[in-house]
Amino acid sequence: MLFFNKMRKRNSVRWLFLSLGIVAVLALTAMNIYSLYALRESTIESAKDNKKSQLDEFTFQVRHQFGGPFRELRKLDIEKLENSWEVSGNFPAHFIDVLVKASEDPLYDNIYYHPSDSDACYEETQALYKFDPELKMFTLANDVPELVCDGFGISNSRVKALIDEYRFNNKVTFDAHRSMNLALINLDKRAVIGHLNFTINREYLVNEVIAKKLQEQFGPTEETGIVVWLRDWIQDEILSGSDEQYTYNRDVYEIDMRQRFPEMLENWVLHASFLQSPTVAATNASLTRNLIVLGFAVIVLFGALVFMFINAQRERELAQRQAGFLANITHELKTPLAVMQAAGENISDGRVKDGERLKSYGEHIYNESVRLRKMIEKLLDVAKVDSGQTVLEQAPHKLDALVTDFLNSNGQYIRSKGFELNYESESDLPLVMIDPDHIETIISNLVENAIKYSSEEKQIDIQLKKNNDFVEISVADKGDGIAKKAQKLIFEKFYRVENSLTAKTKGHGLGLAIVKNMVELNGGTIDVKSTEGKGATFTVSFPALIKGHDHPSPAQLGSKTNGSEIKNIDSKQYV
Ligand code: ADP
Repeated sequence: MLFFNKMRKRNSVRWLFLSLGIVAVLALTAMNIYSLYALRESTIESAKDNKKSQLDEFTFQVRHQFGGPFRELRKLDIEKLENSWEVSGNFPAHFIDVLVKASEDPLYDNIYYHPSDSDACYEETQALYKFDPELKMFTLANDVPELVCDGFGISNSRVKALIDEYRFNNKVTFDAHRSMNLALINLDKRAVIGHLNFTINREYLVNEVIAKKLQEQFGPTEETGIVVWLRDWIQDEILSGSDEQYTYNRDVYEIDMRQRFPEMLENWVLHASFLQSPTVAATNASLTRNLIVLGFAVIVLFGALVFMFINAQRERELAQRQAGFLANITHELKTPLAVMQAAGENISDGRVKDGERLKSYGEHIYNESVRLRKMIEKLLDVAKVDSGQTVLEQAPHKLDALVTDFLNSNGQYIRSKGFELNYESESDLPLVMIDPDHIETIISNLVENAIKYSSEEKQIDIQLKKNNDFVEISVADKGDGIAKKAQKLIFEKFYRVENSLTAKTKGHGLGLAIVKNMVELNGGTIDVKSTEGKGATFTVSFPALIKGHDHPSPAQLGSKTNGSEIKNIDSKQYV
């Protein structure tokens, strides 16, 4: 009782650990998948951030391009410039050099000067000058393009708005992509002495500066994973792109980022689409790889858990059956001994003198000793199998002859139990390599079971036939049959189907385990076909000795295998 309680407790613990194990595996898997995806997201995010800062950097580079000649401007003494202009109508030589350099830069078409802080083109009195790089001086300009007037106008109003607080001696203002304007500021007087206007060469800016830089920095898309276009949003026009293979189309390429040029080229904006970069592609590939490995590991882990659990369950069942068997066998051994002891005592005391009674006592002793012998034989068989000491004495035999021998000695007994016994054999069966003692044990166990488990219709059919390269013996009954799910288990040691019939019959679940072991030792297989309530057919088949080998060799005739050689087979069977 204590033993079974303990077993039940252990079983719940096993279930608990299986559930915990499954939960742990699931939690670990979920965590791993989550972190793999998080890692991928962060890689993609950082790749995006990287691209964003590249775009930012790009616009600064373009801006830098415009500042070329004016880097040193902050050190200029504006008062000196003003005086020089008032006295000579020109700027000092070092500043003229700066302007010559600017006019050599293909980015600028012309340079104009308006020496006043008033609106340049709308007051007749106001003079406008154009720089002549050959003469290195400004000359009065009569025909000034409208874009120059616009530039001066923008520069003038921008500076006026901030001059009171301003800290530098010049202020650069862009009129979109048309002109760059430079206001010269006398900080002491807080006044503008004049505005310089640099008209921009749009073609050069677009095709030579921006387009080239775009291609250098962002192309080819295959390698960088980004495509950038320069778009004029007022004109709704694409001016250039980083890769010619990619035509701007928002239905095809999603615009992931828009980047303006800081304080310049206001009508223009960079549109960038992030395609799959090599880093992202590699991250995706590694994600897939990791998921596959993870999936595989989880399957293996689950498999191992379930396998261990099933194994433990099996062992538990075996231990339970063994415990039941021990309790049972003690009782089974004691009963015939008690009967024999009582009968023997009565006879030896001389108390029983009557011939009839003496005979009946003798029969009791005989029957019980036969029962005891059979039980002990079975136990010994199991012990031999377990310890790998079964002795195999194989020789080529005719199975029909062995079955006939068996029926000659046992037919009478079978019929005495009320059974109809039918035997049928094909003629000319091939020989098989078997141990005849084993065949006797096999058939007697199968027949004994057929007798035990037939309650209504009592009929046993034994059949022998050739099936391809095998010789088959089948023992069929019309008894109670075996449920489908029990059919796999009946060959296990100590297994007995639990129903009212087995409760009534004596047995320990050893017969079929012994049969299966002996069949396999002799190179055969055993199979059962049964429908509950309609009987069972056990079929044992052995490989036939093929033609040409029908006449056994001396070696085959003398074949004797001892326990050590078959140990492996035994241990496989009865782990
Ligand atoms: P035992 O007969 O001692 O219980 P066995 O190993 O011979 O042990 O059989 C195992 C179980 O298989 C039996 O308990 C019985 O339930 C079932 N069994 C075996 N042979 C038959 C049969 N011919 N018909 C129905 N059930 C059978």
